[in-house]
Amino acid sequence: MENIIILGTGCAGFTAGIYTARANLNPLILEGRQPGGQLTTTSEVENFPGFPEGVDGYSLMDQLRKQATRFGAKVENAFIDKVDFSGETKLLFSGDKKFEAKAVIIATGAAPRLLDVPGEKEMYGGKGVTTCATCDGAFYRGMEVIVVGGGDSACEEALFLTRFCSKVTLVHRRDQLRASQIMAERTQAHEKINIVWNSAIKEILPDEEGKTRAVTLENLNSGECSETPAKGVFIAIGHLPNTQPFVDILPLDSNGYLVPENGSQVHTSIPGIYVAGDCADHVYRQAITAAGMGCQAAIEAERWLAENK
Ligand code: NAP
Repeated sequence: MENIIILGTGCAGFTAGIYTARANLNPLILEGRQPGGQLTTTSEVENFPGFPEGVDGYSLMDQLRKQATRFGAKVENAFIDKVDFSGETKLLFSGDKKFEAKAVIIATGAAPRLLDVPGEKEMYGGKGVTTCATCDGAFYRGMEVIVVGGGDSACEEALFLTRFCSKVTLVHRRDQLRASQIMAERTQAHEKINIVWNSAIKEILPDEEGKTRAVTLENLNSGECSETPAKGVFIAIGHLPNTQPFVDILPLDSNGYLVPENGSQVHTSIPGIYVAGDCADHVYRQAITAAGMGCQAAIEAERWLAENK
């Protein structure tokens, strides 16, 4: 039986790993389907304290992993699909494999949302539809691409893609960006970015090889549809929390985010179970706030374990 199992290897999970490892708890960190979490898909992180020149997301997560394992945290790949927190020993299942722990920190993060339009599933991952400019942008060198969304992610993706692509069309369903002012201004001022307002993608169209060639855009005011050529469609419309194993076990809000209890950001209704990061935070969703929650959860778990030996 482990003292503590941490679910997730994003900023929250690794920070919890650093703190619990330094407290000699020998934590086991389970890595799910996105090793390193969402930051591994971010080109440049300019707002994480301590990096005045910025840092790329992948390197930052690599450093956090090294920092956690340096103090004795173990990292294992296992996607947890079921849990049983009803007894004193917390049980976690990954298919047939069972893990046991005295305490658990849930830091499972969130996953990108998709549009649910014809063509999207068929061309997702390798055929022109993607949610990660950092991962896939370089494949679209010299090509015309589309980014969907109006938040910071969409602006960041669009700006990043200008490094490679000949033209970036940002499609947004309203007439105003939701992004922070600095990101919105940079995006609107960029000569390679063309913003199509009040519009939505109705369909993603394939070429003869089944790869993306264009999209059908609908103007949401007039209802008019038109075809816009694009070899790549980058979807940046927010995220869904990875909380499916906890349905009916812990309280979730209407969007599926874990709801902390007792006036704390990290406590749950079950003693010994803590939450941290984007799976429980729909407000801030920043790397630094996730890391902060990971720290809080680790300190609370450490105290609880000391009191419940
Ligand atoms: P977000 O702020 O929730 O924005 C999602 C965008 O997608 C919104 O513009 C929304 O439109 C649009 N959208 C949602 N569902 C849609 C659909 N089905 N079809 C078309 N458009 C749809 O998400 P985010 O941009 O991923 O940002 C999440 C959080 O992370 C924010 O707090 C953000 O500040 C932060 N973040 C920060 C940075 C940075 O600081 N560098 C980078 C990335 C993200 P509406 O505007 O009409 O709702």
